Amino acid sequence: MRKVYSSQDVNLVHFAKSVLEANKIESVILREQLAGVVGGIAPLDAWPELWVMDDAKLEEVRLLLDSVLNENETSKSAWKCPGCGEMIESQFTQCWQCETEFKSAE
Ligand SMILES: [Zn+2]
Repeated sequence: MRKVYSSQDVNLVHFAKSVLEANKIESVILREQLAGVVGGIAPLDAWPELWVMDDAKLEEVRLLLDSVLNENETSKSAWKCPGCGEMIESQFTQCWQCETEFKSAE
């Protein structure tokens, strides 16, 4: 049995488990109760963990979780500064080069 995922957000751990279930991979969530005691947010050392029963599935599981859990990351990827054309990391809202502010297309 191997730990494949851990998150402060118990909902995300459940989501990951449901993805594995849909792919017929047996998994179990550990330490879930610990997370429950503080209003759903677990202290750092008590995050709920997702464990996979079958070690042979590990690689498959990693790929699956990578693709579903990183979707949020890609939606806020780097942006191109309209002022100078510089590529800016998603966590910055202002161009470090010419100070143009990033305005979302939405
Ligand atoms: Zn710029």
